[in-house]
Amino acid sequence: MTAKRHAAPKGYRLTSSVVVDPGGSWGALLARGKRVRFVDIEGQQAVDFLCYNAADTRDRYNAANTMKMAENAFLNAGTVLYGEYATALMTIVASSCPNHDTIGGCCSVEMNLLRYGRRTHSCRANFIHELAKFGMGEADIVANVNFFMRVPVGRDGHMAIADSPSRAGDFVDVEALTDVIAVISNCPQKYNPACGYHPSPVRVETYAKQRVSRT
Ligand SMILES: [Zn+2]
Repeated sequence: MTAKRHAAPKGYRLTSSVVVDPGGSWGALLARGKRVRFVDIEGQQAVDFLCYNAADTRDRYNAANTMKMAENAFLNAGTVLYGEYATALMTIVASSCPNHDTIGGCCSVEMNLLRYGRRTHSCRANFIHELAKFGMGEADIVANVNFFMRVPVGRDGHMAIADSPSRAGDFVDVEALTDVIAVISNCPQKYNPACGYHPSPVRVETYAKQRVSRT
């Protein structure tokens, strides 16, 4: 199944496009000003995401700082992704799907064993795999973003992963505000609604600003 292609952001050109299978991962160094677009090809597919300041990876995505500055637990167009040192690392510039999550965390072998009695492939393992490419590892995993995943919080504080509103072709565009290392795990979770109980592929596209040519 191929999702419809959306136009490139105005003033940007496509620089790469790759389909990441369910359970697969991706990572890249994104220079300041570059954009990455995640496309939920079939719908209801969680994309676990982390980013790090390329100049000092201790300055990595900080979910609490991001929620405090947004005064909201959900990530939407306009939300700035803040780092450990309060650096504005990236920003969500467009999203066709509302309320991305950043409190549910990523799936792991250990949590799947605890919750479902199953030993499975996990986003945590994928993060370790991708981070190794950039000289990082297990200790560098922090509370992450889950694009297209829905974790509503009730008045009494009850929270749980719920059905995602994301439909086939939904996308989110994220721009690097400084040079960053961005990594994703395309979640393989089958035992809760993170991926609609049916993990599916996503497309990762990168964009750079178009050069202005003088004629
Ligand atoms: Zn996962």
